[in-house]
Amino acid sequence: MRNLVWFRRDLRITDHPALSNACEQATEGVVAVFCITPEQWKEHDDSPLKVHFWMQNVVCLSKALAAIRIPLLIIECDNYDDIPKRISALATEHDCGSLFFHREYEVNEAERDKQVIAMCEASGVTTFCYDDRVIVPPANISTKEGNFYTVFTPYRRVWDTRLDDVGEPIAAPKKQSEIQIAPSDVPDKIDGYDFSSVRSDLWPAGEDEAHERLHQFMDRIDAYDDRRDIPSVCGTSVLSPYLAAGVVSPRQCLSSALALCKGDLSRSKGATTWVSELTWRDFYAHVLVGFPRVSKHLAFNRKNDGVQWSHDDSTFNAWTEGQTGYPIVDAGMRQLNQTGWMHNRLRMVTAMFLTKHLLIDWRWGEKYFMDHLIDGDLAANNGGWQWSASTGTDSVPYFRIFNPFSQSKRFDTDGDYIKKFCPELKDVPAAALHDAAKLRREIERREIDYPDFVVDYKEGRERALAAFKALN
Ligand code: FAD
Repeated sequence: MRNLVWFRRDLRITDHPALSNACEQATEGVVAVFCITPEQWKEHDDSPLKVHFWMQNVVCLSKALAAIRIPLLIIECDNYDDIPKRISALATEHDCGSLFFHREYEVNEAERDKQVIAMCEASGVTTFCYDDRVIVPPANISTKEGNFYTVFTPYRRVWDTRLDDVGEPIAAPKKQSEIQIAPSDVPDKIDGYDFSSVRSDLWPAGEDEAHERLHQFMDRIDAYDDRRDIPSVCGTSVLSPYLAAGVVSPRQCLSSALALCKGDLSRSKGATTWVSELTWRDFYAHVLVGFPRVSKHLAFNRKNDGVQWSHDDSTFNAWTEGQTGYPIVDAGMRQLNQTGWMHNRLRMVTAMFLTKHLLIDWRWGEKYFMDHLIDGDLAANNGGWQWSASTGTDSVPYFRIFNPFSQSKRFDTDGDYIKKFCPELKDVPAAALHDAAKLRREIERREIDYPDFVVDYKEGRERALAAFKALN
């Protein structure tokens, strides 16, 4: 029997249940497939940097698969509509008796997979589907009443009890029987995507790179708890692009942390906190499955979404360009624009500034992030945005509005991060970066070309408080 493995956002050969099972059951070799769907990717706001990163990883994947005698074939079609037909035809063409793949939880992807399963089964191809994107699958956790959780802490308690069921990461499969099918060339151009300004040097592709980063982070993990909120230092793992594209699995991350702590996370505060962040990742996937409306531009908390959101282009543009006059906000947005990644503390600061001080619709910010992030992930991005806008599950209370100056004073005390991304402020004393009046004085005195405040932060705060209070 020959088997077909369908790769999606799981671009690796280690700890890949679908691939391993397909190889175990095959007697006449294994074929792999990856689908390029530019129109669909555009519709989902997948950024050029992310799509470029996917394709670089597909090149690495194709090489790794070829080394174990598995040819990777590429299907190109505009959107998901054609995929069921194309996948089942490919299985038939290459005499594959079964199709193996990992579950995706988003609405469009789940619908596509349902159609693929139906069409394959109708043509005699058996389908096997596994959970892989998260550590504990969304449906394996429920409240006593059998519902999905909406609050993180009780979810986390149950999540911890499910860890015994999480197996050790699986090794890459051995060489398969030889088959006479040539792998496809991986295209370096994708319709509708311009890769000319993509900074791929910052994000080398491949499983080796992801594991090297994971390995290096293990040397720093003990300090994670103390350093993770300081954006000027490399205090976090910066693995999110690799996790989002499935170049490393969350189980491999958990297993590394556990191995370092000899099976007992409580030995390291840093490791405990880091695993909590991986749990947030699982939690937002759980929310996405339990409440599919959040992936359709709808709020989880409909009451708070009743705010009269602003749709003012000029203030929104100032925010996107990092020209709000608030150094910490501008530094965050410029980091995103220049590198395709933003530190978590800054994601919270910039998102809260947009949705509270500017009272701009969180959906605009959510889309802008997706359009630019290398690690853009519907569940995590939507979760983060709705948390910041106070419209989500377990989100920040509407009255806890971050003051951009207190945030920078606390987390970028010496202004190193601000000065890196706002070089025009490099000579401004750090204390002035955290104080509105001092900042204006310094800018005037030094004749620095830096914008005036897009909104007075006290007025912005009062306006947001009034808007939310009216609904609560
Ligand atoms: P680490 O601190 O090393 O954490 C390890 C991993 O845990 C991350 O790589 C990530 O996969 C996961 N993780 C960490 N924090 C969170 C979190 N709060 N929610 C969900 N998962 C988390 N993360 C994305 O992966 N994609 C997104 O599109 C995304 N959009 C966000 C938007 C907003 C407004 C906010 C506030 C957060 C968003 N996050 C997103 C979560 C978080 O900011 C990033 O995962 C983190 O900054 C990635 O850096 P890291 O890999 O060094 O994380």
